[in-house]
Amino acid sequence: MADNLRKIYLMNAIFIISLISSQVQSAEIKQSQETYFTEANTVLDKKLNQKPITSPAKNIILFIGDGMGISTVTATRILDGQLKGHTGEENILSWETFPYTALAKTYSSNQQISDSAGTASAILSGSKTKEGFIGINQSVERGDCKGSQNNHLDSFLELSEKAGLNTGIITTTRITHATPAAAYAHSSERDWENDADIPDEVKQQGCTDIAQQFVDFSVGNGIEVAFGGGRGNFLPENKGGMRTDGRDLIKTWKNRYKDGQYITNTKDLNDLSTDDKGPVLGLFNNNHMEFDALRSKDADGEPSLAQMTGKALQILQKKDGGYFLYIEAGRIDHGHHRGNAYRALHDGIALAEAVKVAKEMTKNDDTLIIVTADHSHGFVMTGYATRGNPILGKMRENDNQGNAEKENALGLDDMPYTTLGYYNGQGAEINKGRTDLTHIDTEAKNFIQQAVVPLENESHGGEDVAIYADGPDAYLFQGVVEQNYIFHVLYHALRLEKKLKK
Ligand SMILES: [Zn+2]
Repeated sequence: MADNLRKIYLMNAIFIISLISSQVQSAEIKQSQETYFTEANTVLDKKLNQKPITSPAKNIILFIGDGMGISTVTATRILDGQLKGHTGEENILSWETFPYTALAKTYSSNQQISDSAGTASAILSGSKTKEGFIGINQSVERGDCKGSQNNHLDSFLELSEKAGLNTGIITTTRITHATPAAAYAHSSERDWENDADIPDEVKQQGCTDIAQQFVDFSVGNGIEVAFGGGRGNFLPENKGGMRTDGRDLIKTWKNRYKDGQYITNTKDLNDLSTDDKGPVLGLFNNNHMEFDALRSKDADGEPSLAQMTGKALQILQKKDGGYFLYIEAGRIDHGHHRGNAYRALHDGIALAEAVKVAKEMTKNDDTLIIVTADHSHGFVMTGYATRGNPILGKMRENDNQGNAEKENALGLDDMPYTTLGYYNGQGAEINKGRTDLTHIDTEAKNFIQQAVVPLENESHGGEDVAIYADGPDAYLFQGVVEQNYIFHVLYHALRLEKKLKK
């Protein structure tokens, strides 16, 4: 009898539980047919099925958007969407589909808000160091040549070469500029890009300029592909360069690599042989490469970041073994320094196109792709702009019914203002109030956004930047991390320790 009672209780309990769960299932959430609701729910389903790839990476592609803080990413996303004819806010940049993200703290060992030398050295060496340092540890002073000689940091590119991998560097700046230089050079002063930049007593102490170090690089079998600007740092004055030691380092490079290919424009890049031959050096401008928005797109002009990325991958993928490709969209930073969001954001879009190419040309299960920034900028996106308001335009708000106003919003000074602006830089004038923007086209190529503090150069921002990652070990990017942590994931993902022991 007791057994039967127990059975009845049990049946009742099961009945009640199933009743409750079916109530939950059929619970009508009023907004469940809203598109925003269903789309977010689809993302949840995808996330629930997402499995981290824990097998080793064969290849790594590391993209740096120089100065690409989160406000820059958002504004780039909107501009890209608007250029495609949409409202923009809903747009997705190529790296924004990556499943894993983290925030990186970008301060350097001696500075709250850092430059690109300290941050690039941190990303590539696994240890923070001082502002202005290229691959030198924090124990010496800036500009100390002697002290720097025994205080090098191994870069991830050097370690990759030591481990027998193929390597590549792409940048839209001079190849001797801070971010790319941190991959192959060691200097206690980032500005020593050619011999004319170095004081005589430093030369006598045996420190060489960064262009010279690029040509002398002799770790592993050397850098397989290098594309960027900065030809002038390799050439003597009588050949249109800036060197005062009379050296033609391009000639030196050609003599060193008899099977190498040296190129200078888009046509050369297109005609380049991607067969497994010697290294490739492309120097497409005497100085930095042109901003993407101003770039000459014909055959004798400069290739886009996406074109350089595609070609470098074709070359590296034909070689035996894995590769480490380090790519910098370096002029986002320069657009911002000028206080010109137009240039900065168009270079951001060029980066998104390059990441798209990299994604399409690689396999998710063997290539770790990371997109991050070295530091942010004093760049803000603010106000109560209506949906779809041109991101480079003047502020237009919504009215009391929530519909777009026809007129621009005005400040207390009765003048219109833009959504985008800078805290400091050229957009502020000494002892002068704001310019009236009523008859000024703020979406024009050369418009300088308004700022508060007048400075010749708008400056870097100190808040965290994002890390976006996809592929093997991408899941290790979670939470808030120190920027130098990036190296440690790269090192683990390639299982470099094992490869270096061989
Ligand atoms: Zn900068």
